[in-house]
Order: sequence, then C-alpha cells, then structure tokens
Amino acid sequence: LPEGVPPPSEEHLEVLQNYFGHSCFRPMQWKIIYAVLQKQDNCVVMATGYGKSLCYQFPAVYQRGVAVVVSPLISLMEDQVMGLEALNIPACFLGSGQTNKSEVYQNMFNGVYRVVYVTPEFIDACSDILENLMKKVGIMLFAIDEAHCLSQWGHDFRSSYRKLGTIRKKFPTVPILAVTATATQTVQKDICSVLKLRHPVVTVTSFDRPNLYLEAKLKSKSVLEDILPLMVREPGGNYSPDGPTIIYCPTKKITEEVVSELRAAGVKCEMYHAGMNKREREAAHHKFSFDKVDVIVATVAFGMGINKPDVRRVIHYGAPGSPESYYQEIGRAGRDGLPSTCTVFYGSGDDRLHRYFISTLNSEEFREHQYAMLRKMSKFLNQTTCRRIAILSHFTSKVDKTSPKKDCCDNCTKNLLGDTSNKKSSWLSAVLDKEDKYDFTSDAKKIFETVKRGLSCGSTSLIYILRGSKCQRVKPHWMKMPTYGAGKDKNEAFWKELIQMLVHNEWLTESLVSCGQSWGRGRGRGKADFMSYSAIGLGERAYHALKDPN
Ligand code: ADP
Repeated sequence: LPEGVPPPSEEHLEVLQNYFGHSCFRPMQWKIIYAVLQKQDNCVVMATGYGKSLCYQFPAVYQRGVAVVVSPLISLMEDQVMGLEALNIPACFLGSGQTNKSEVYQNMFNGVYRVVYVTPEFIDACSDILENLMKKVGIMLFAIDEAHCLSQWGHDFRSSYRKLGTIRKKFPTVPILAVTATATQTVQKDICSVLKLRHPVVTVTSFDRPNLYLEAKLKSKSVLEDILPLMVREPGGNYSPDGPTIIYCPTKKITEEVVSELRAAGVKCEMYHAGMNKREREAAHHKFSFDKVDVIVATVAFGMGINKPDVRRVIHYGAPGSPESYYQEIGRAGRDGLPSTCTVFYGSGDDRLHRYFISTLNSEEFREHQYAMLRKMSKFLNQTTCRRIAILSHFTSKVDKTSPKKDCCDNCTKNLLGDTSNKKSSWLSAVLDKEDKYDFTSDAKKIFETVKRGLSCGSTSLIYILRGSKCQRVKPHWMKMPTYGAGKDKNEAFWKELIQMLVHNEWLTESLVSCGQSWGRGRGRGKADFMSYSAIGLGERAYHALKDPN
C-alpha cells in the first residue's frame, strides 16, 4: 500500500464483493478510492483495463451518495449504465437522446441513482439541473472520464471539455476525480489547472501493456502485399485474420480504398468513418462487436467506446500522427490480457499528409507542438532499438529498461535472434560497419552549408545538389553553389537517411510549404500531395555547428 493509506476495512471489502463481485482492490484503485472518500481531488492516469470506473463507482455505492460522471460519448454512457444496472446499482445518463426524461429526473431528484452520467455539453448548458440535484440530494463526487480531452496537448482535444473548469466554481465543496488512460506530464498539468484541482493526489499506473507486441514495417507497393500475409488463407480461397482486427487508415478515402481491395481479395470486412451516417456506423460497430465480422477498417473516428476485449490485432495502414494517438489506438488491442499484435505500415509520404493537417491549425504554438509529436512518431517508426522503451519513455521517466524479451517488439526479437537485417538495411550502419567509427561531421556540414542558402527545397532536391545531378529540376543557380556535387562519393540512400536522422535529432527542421501547383505526378493522390511539400531548414543545433570552425 502507498504510504499513509490504511488498508481497506471489512466493510469496504464487503461492498466490493457484494456489489462488484471483486474480492480485493487493485493497489492503485484503493489509493484513489481512499483519497476520494477523504474528499481529496485526484488526477489519475491509468492503463486501459486496470479498472478506472471502480474508482468513481465504488465511493458512490459505499457512501450511498451520487457521483456525477462526465463522459464524452453517449454510447459509452449507455454501456456503463447497462453494466451498473446488471450489478443492481441504479444509474442513468443525462443528455440529448435520453428517453423518458421526466421519469429519470424524478428518480434522480429522489436520490435513486448512485451514478449519473452526463456529457460535457450538459454541464455547460444545464448546470441548473445539477445545482438542483446538489441541493436536493447532494453530489459526493464529480468524475471526469477521458480527461485528456480537455488539453490541447493531448490527442483528442474537445472544446466542450475545456469548459469543465466551471465545475469547481459552481460546486466548490465537491471533490473532483480526473481519469484518463493516456496523458503525458504536460497533459496531466493541464488537467489539474483547467479543472482547478486543489492539491490533487496524482496517480500514474504503469503504461506498459506487456501483452501487446509492437512492430513497424515499411509499406510495400500494395495494400494486399502488406496485409494479406497477416491473415490465414482458408480452404475456399478467402482470407481471414486469426482474431478480431482493427485496421486504422489516415483518411476516409484510404479507408474506402483499403476496404475495396480487401473485399476483392476475399477478406470479409466492415468500414467505419465519419462520412458514414450514424446508422451505418452503428451497424458496422455492432457487427464487429458481436463477431459477425473479424475485420473493421476505420479512421480514428472508430475510437472511444470500443470495449471489445478480444481485439487480437491493430494495424495502422499509414503512420499515426503522434505517440499519444498511436498509444491510444493500439490500446484497443488485447484488453483481455492475452497476447495481441500492433503493426504499423508506414511510408515516406505519410508525414506529408499529417503536415498538411497540422498546417491548417490556427495556433502557432499548437502547430509547433504537433510537428514535434510528428517528428517523435517518425523517429519511433524508424528506430532499430526497443519500441516499448521508446513509447513508454514518451509518457513517463520511470521506464524499466531491463533486458529485451522476444515477445516485446520487432526490434527486440531481431536483436535477440542475432538478426542484423536492421543494421544491414541502414546505409548509415553499413558505413559504420565498414569503418567502425565513422564521423558524419563533414557530410552533415555539406548538408547544412547547402540548406543555409535558403533554397527552401525538400530533401530530394537537396540530394540532387549534393550529388551534382543534372536533372531538370536542378536550377542553373544551384549548380554554382560550392556544395554542388560535393557529396558525389555517397549514394542517394545514404543522403536520404542522413537527412532524416538529422531531422529526427532536430539538427534540421522540416516544414510544409505550399507551392500551389502540381509537380505533375501528384494528380489524383489527394490535395495535400500536390499543393505542398516539406522544405528542409536549419535547426538551432546546425546554426551553432556552422559557427564552430571544428
Ligand atoms: P478501464 O476503464 O480502466 O479500461 P474498466 O473499469 O472497464 O477498465 O475495468 C476493466 C476490467 O477490470 C473490468 O472487467 C472490471 O470488472 C475489472 N476489474 C476492475 N477492478 C477490479 C478488481 N478490483 N478486481 C478484479 N477485477 C477488476
């Protein structure tokens, strides 16, 4: 038990057993519940599946009070209410779509319900109803589920969540419990400050999901070449996965393309994206939830509220935009604790799409933040060391860095098997292998010297210059530059990788530049592709390096 927290009493355990059917609390659950019972504020980051809901449901049941729970989705609330009713714990939800409203209100004001779920919009628009509830019955706790939604540094910002700051002012005596499954330290701070938590008890359980195997592969030429090998060929010639599978795609268009290719190849699958109407989406969700279909191809719109415990594989067909969204999305795999696999297929064009979306954001600070997250994600995908350590380090400084296990990630498997394909595939490592200790300084400086001239060009043009190419895209004045042809001794792949490494380590910057015209090969590949490109610029570190004569 954490220091200063007494063990639960017989009475606590009895309520836990009789209502919830559990024989003991998980260690962090009791710490939080104890703090709630002491009327303290809490900020909780808890790995999926640990048991967040008990933290607000138990105190209400135990004290026969009312907990008001803010949740972003009606479907999520309906599920929770149903679950509680099955345990004989009266609960309801308030918000648009609630049928027999007057009966629900009457029950609520008579103190029938232990847990009342509301949308953030309801808190904003109908706070008089809650004030009435406070007067008539009392509210013992406000719980804010999916609390990361209130921070724009999180991955799913919702402006309706931002307004939850009013709860403290309107109900100053009621403790607040903020819970989420993913929040970096910045997001945690934001949660505490937006909700005006008073000396909150902060609890962060381990983020690790040891049953998830992480892997990332470069996309090949076609969807089928990538995805079919992950499935089993049935006697009739159709393909099916070895368990429920979610395939995330970055856009509606790509989602539709992947669905049609898979179907043509004999894979039974459903589609889910925000362009479909509510009924269609619900039907797809339902089929997947009830095992009528094993594969659902979706945009991130297929997100919260997926409580299917036995998702065996999450595939990202296209790089995710940030470590947070990646972690949230793979979190939908293996909730039952059984081994599950998370596979990303990424390609060099993926970043471009994200950059385009980011460039449309209003706040400069937020844009910069999102670019930094994108760089982190791309570093994660390209790295050859343990992916679990990398992703966990993004969320917390306390990461167990003990020896790798074979069932951890593709990189650990390769390293344990003595597979050097990682190294061999890397031109940088190939150079390193040959010369043992290769010094990249002079190569890097050639790049910096070229970029310094303010050409505002992408990596491809940069490589043309360094390798002294005579192709059409090389402009006459580029040929007069001192670094034109200075990198002939290395091939294109070498330069490409070096530039990427310098971008990942923030020696170089990459930003989206709108060019407003097609380069001729982009037609039909999505607007973002031919309206803009990524220009390489000098990072702070490179400026310093150029000033340093050594
Ligand atoms: P989360 O929201 O954190 O993903 P849930 O609240 O849905 O998790 O709980 C996940 C699962 O863990 C549920 O099936 C729940 O019944 C179970 N659970 C929660 N607390 C306990 C406990 N103390 N003992 C045993 N099982 C628990």
